Amino acid sequence: MSNCCVPTVPPDSSYKAFGQPVEDWTARLTAGLNRSIETTNQTMGDLERQIAQQTQGLERKLLEEASQRKADQSPPACPVCGHPLSRLSHGHERTYQTRFGLVTIRRSRGWCKRCKAWRFPADYALGLEDTGSASPSVQEMAALVASKMPVSEASAVLEHLTGVKLPPATLDREARRQGKRAERKRKELDQQMSLGGGAAQCVAVEQKPFTLVIEIDAWNIRERDEWGQSQQQRAKGMEPARWHWVYGGTCFRLEERQPTDPGRSVILSRGTVMTRGGVEALREQLFAECLRQGLGQAGEVLVVADGAMWIWNLVSDRFGSARQRLDFYHASQHLWAVAHALHPEDASAAYQWIEPLLKKLKAGRSVKVIAELERVTKRLRAKRRVEAERELEYFRSHRHRLDYRGAKQSGQPLGSGAIESTCRQYQCRFKRCGQFWSQSGDEALMCLETFWRNGRWHLLFPHSVDPSKN
Ligand SMILES: [Zn+2]
Repeated sequence: MSNCCVPTVPPDSSYKAFGQPVEDWTARLTAGLNRSIETTNQTMGDLERQIAQQTQGLERKLLEEASQRKADQSPPACPVCGHPLSRLSHGHERTYQTRFGLVTIRRSRGWCKRCKAWRFPADYALGLEDTGSASPSVQEMAALVASKMPVSEASAVLEHLTGVKLPPATLDREARRQGKRAERKRKELDQQMSLGGGAAQCVAVEQKPFTLVIEIDAWNIRERDEWGQSQQQRAKGMEPARWHWVYGGTCFRLEERQPTDPGRSVILSRGTVMTRGGVEALREQLFAECLRQGLGQAGEVLVVADGAMWIWNLVSDRFGSARQRLDFYHASQHLWAVAHALHPEDASAAYQWIEPLLKKLKAGRSVKVIAELERVTKRLRAKRRVEAERELEYFRSHRHRLDYRGAKQSGQPLGSGAIESTCRQYQCRFKRCGQFWSQSGDEALMCLETFWRNGRWHLLFPHSVDPSKN
């Protein structure tokens, strides 16, 4: 066996203690593998399972021993304020769920007079939390699987793939705890960005001028914060609200958007935000994200979104000088509404009316489109006239957002498809049938999902690998 990947252990190292367990383990593993090699119906899968099983006991022992040594080394000072601890006592056992099984550690406890709290310095040194009994790796596993799939499924998948047993309720609790931590981390990182100290968070941008594209959208999520109180609420004249808006945005440099098939494109690198915290939360998170993606250096900023007023208010608030564009698909839907008002029972006549208008719209001749809308509106009466007038007003209010010709010429997106598909991907997790959330629960898990998508997972779990360093 080659030794090239095995770390060299100095002769005076404390790891000498592992000599005997390693020898026993090698003997057991070798005997088992030899049996499997001779058994004809066993595949590489059986060898993989056997090695994993045999190795785990040893790994658990190594982790327990090494963690105990680290615990023993932690100085008797308050890990929060640094004040020396008094009333020290030792040997406080606590058992943790780790990647390799249960590990028990004996820790010292002391009283911090300044914080007026009992402290276990070893817990801080080892990255263990006051509540919960998951090791940092298991904390990470819980956060990752629960943000990807419902907890009962996540619990089963986790155990199947790693052997780590976390019942659904424990997994849920741990994931939410990590999600809350993620929210605090997001706030800290965003503040750092807006105070000008976030250079390390920024993507590297070249000197040449570039366009930063921002897309914004929203979707709704079902919650049950006041579950069981519907009767009382209705008695008070309030209809309980179940559906709430989740706001999202994405931003990327235009050159990161690469064509794939005709009419399709992929965005190689971008930043995403998603929040249940209201429009204001979106505005601040999106602004920080745009700074990370190069807002400060961008030659041009472009915002693409549907017609919702809150979006354009947010844009004038935070991205005042940005070029604005109405999502082409939404614009065409509003034109279709007029086509149906004009020809309610004749689909082909509606199509004949709209086809040249859609072409005009795409060609940047929105003035002609609005003129045609003004002309046909006068011909309509009653309810259909009201409908057409509403759509006419829609196009008038968005007239400065309809330059689709300029968009095509400069290779910019005509629509906000990137954020719409991102929202749909979040919905695959957060909008399953029969699913109800609480506001604090959905925000926490969405925050985890967003750290993962943005390639910043390692900022939450520093022991995990930073993808940019691969
Ligand atoms: Zn203290």
